[in-house]
Amino acid sequence: MKKDVVRGVVLRAVDVKNSDRMLTVYTHERGIMSIYARGAKRMDGKSGTSSTAEFAYSEFTVVQKQDKLWSSEISNIRFFDCGMMNFEGYSLNFYVLELFEHIATAEPDADLMRLLLNTLYASSERKNDHRLIKAAFEIRLLSHIGYMPDVTGCSECEARGRELYFDVVTGSLKCAECTALGAEDTDTEPHQTLIITEGARAALEYSIGCPLEKLFSFTLVGEDLDCFSRAAESYLVRQLDRDFAGLDYIHNVVLPKKPK
Ligand SMILES: [Zn+2]
Repeated sequence: MKKDVVRGVVLRAVDVKNSDRMLTVYTHERGIMSIYARGAKRMDGKSGTSSTAEFAYSEFTVVQKQDKLWSSEISNIRFFDCGMMNFEGYSLNFYVLELFEHIATAEPDADLMRLLLNTLYASSERKNDHRLIKAAFEIRLLSHIGYMPDVTGCSECEARGRELYFDVVTGSLKCAECTALGAEDTDTEPHQTLIITEGARAALEYSIGCPLEKLFSFTLVGEDLDCFSRAAESYLVRQLDRDFAGLDYIHNVVLPKKPK
């Protein structure tokens, strides 16, 4: 029987009968795929961290049987365990896995794999900056899968260096003057716009185009960070047009909104 080896991150693990586990894995070799881990629950007992649980980056030797891929030889490469002290990192990684399960295809994609690994790593290693990591990840992910916003300046007059309005429907910016001029457009679709500071605009532009390994290598604080994170999340929710349990969790449990 032909064996094959794949390496990937477990996005979801569901226990099935006979101590087996059905895994949804994002892999270097085949993009997203389902793997049945033979005896996975018994393997758990032998080591502290599981190679077949969510957040595990593991190597699987797989064998095709009928219409399913089975694996009983699994070794863990890394486990993105944030620990109890890094609750923000844990919840962000949970959301990252959920997003990948939604957007990933069976097409291998080296850049997407690196984005996944780098984000899980940064989120589990850092003790703060999770809002920055989340927003930079969201914008980079969207840009990569075909929703790149145009954030270089006002889409009408190219103004930059001052406050602009980010339209999360079109993914473009407008200055106050051009917004006023266009106010009489008989556009039927309701537009949702957010104020973007120059710092937030620069962070959006950086997150789209910087080398992937430098994605989280910048600092942003205060209102700039507020605008950046609001823009990234609003744009993602609007473009992907669905709710994510991970987002509800982040907002309601981990980062409850500060009273104004
Ligand atoms: Zn303008």
